[in-house]
Amino acid sequence: MRVVIDQELCGTTGQCVLTLPGTFRQREPDGVAEVCVATVPQALHAAVRLAASQCPVAAIRVIESDAGDDERASADPRALSGGDRAACRERPT
Ligand code: SF4
Repeated sequence: MRVVIDQELCGTTGQCVLTLPGTFRQREPDGVAEVCVATVPQALHAAVRLAASQCPVAAIRVIESDAGDDERASADPRALSGGDRAACRERPT
């Protein structure tokens, strides 16, 4: 599974980041949400679907297949190197 955010639609509520801080983050300085994983681990599929369903502006799109990389999205693995990846927080225990 992959997940992408339409950054033009994102209303910067931060709801997805609060729900899944290891998967989503808000970029500085505008608070637009980004995806910080290239693929969603199986254990988080249900939670990501829930976060997508609860986005108030329907900006989160779930792609059930891991294949394909032609989406315009913050989930582009080329954008996830170095400090970007470190910016995502792990889910609190
Ligand atoms: S829940 Fe939706 S509107 Fe809120 S930050 Fe996440 S993507 Fe943006």
